[in-house]
Amino acid sequence: MRRNQKIRFKFCPAAHVVLTTFLLLCACSKTGHPPFPYKAQVIHYSPPAGSLSGRWNISEQTLPTMEDPDSARGKFFEILTGRKLEIDSTVGSIVSGKISGGANKNSLRYTIKNGVMVPRDTTTLMIFSSFHAFEQVFENIEPATGLNPDVLKQTIGGRYQIFFEPTIEVIDGQSETRISPKTNAAFNPDGNNFILFRRSSVEDVPLAANTKVIAHEFGHALFKNSFFRQKNESCTKPDAAQTEIRKNDKFFEGRMGLEFAMSGFNEGYSDFVSYVMTGDVNALEGGVTADEIAARSLEGKPFFFYQLAGDTACSGTFYCIGTLFARALYKAASVHPRQSAGQLAFSRKVFNALGTADSFLRQEPSLSLWPDTTAEMAQCERRDAFLLSHDGKVSSAFLAAFVKGFPADADKAALCNALVELFGTAGFSKEARSACES
Ligand SMILES: [Zn+2]
Repeated sequence: MRRNQKIRFKFCPAAHVVLTTFLLLCACSKTGHPPFPYKAQVIHYSPPAGSLSGRWNISEQTLPTMEDPDSARGKFFEILTGRKLEIDSTVGSIVSGKISGGANKNSLRYTIKNGVMVPRDTTTLMIFSSFHAFEQVFENIEPATGLNPDVLKQTIGGRYQIFFEPTIEVIDGQSETRISPKTNAAFNPDGNNFILFRRSSVEDVPLAANTKVIAHEFGHALFKNSFFRQKNESCTKPDAAQTEIRKNDKFFEGRMGLEFAMSGFNEGYSDFVSYVMTGDVNALEGGVTADEIAARSLEGKPFFFYQLAGDTACSGTFYCIGTLFARALYKAASVHPRQSAGQLAFSRKVFNALGTADSFLRQEPSLSLWPDTTAEMAQCERRDAFLLSHDGKVSSAFLAAFVKGFPADADKAALCNALVELFGTAGFSKEARSACES
């Protein structure tokens, strides 16, 4: 697109009435605002219906919370381009690092056809589609959690920021392949922002526009809001005196983030959020071609906690614990019809129970079940392989605390049955089940 065209045809919204075909040549990218609420052509995800799985198409959609299309700013989030991301660490799709870069405006290029913004390049299509996907997620926050998005916005102190395809710099000698997660989208709890990585060849549907993946990433933001009470504690290297103190403090600051099994529960909750918000049982299916997709499905081949020590039942990563948790939640939710009011009510109880789990962890029976600080952990070292003797205790303690926050009703009974079945005594020990009996 040539610059002089932009200026010359800046009043083209009126022109489309006269000559529609002319608009295909017209570039209204900066000054010609379409009517409010904004409508755009986007990649749109429709949830599964009956026996069909979810589908994508390019269609015209209203973007009700969009405030300014040229900067992709909405009421609850804004999409920013041209940033630099320095990554210090990644745990699954949770990234920590530093974002920098100028406050340049997005250079979105679109024409306006019958009042609809039609992207003129792939980047604009991706940004509008991501905006739409985040909007679909935001519409579902309150039904799925009971949390009002305005309150959430206040809690985090403003809009969520979404960094679209930032330049990646890796510190600590990690390779870019290691830090680019398969899902290509990430949540950064340090700054309450999301990162949409560069498109990759494994994507059938661009993940930045994939509502299922966006909903999964948003699940991490919700886990932070409920379980972590919006705090983002990280482990800092101790001196000798602090090391001694930590050995006697089971809940020292930053420990929770080091626990292999807790990373799993975070992932599992996020997969469940993706299901509740989209009705699809696999956050990745249809979106990417990669290994381990089938294993993530909530309806996939069954496996159990005690099997995680081997690598045949599941991949051995913390995602496996996550899948067990997501499957247990899904199983308990399935007492109600798919995407019914009953399922949403169940989902809200899950969110609330996560919110009380942290304080119940510090009470019996969880307090005794929660393992002592290991020497490695006191030094902020993360273990990245499953260890039955340790992770079984963490899992039992967490599940005991989680179930304790659940109201005594039929949903709780269904949840307990599903947890007992999938986690067994190895991941949900008999001593951890007292809350299931009341
Ligand atoms: Zn994740």
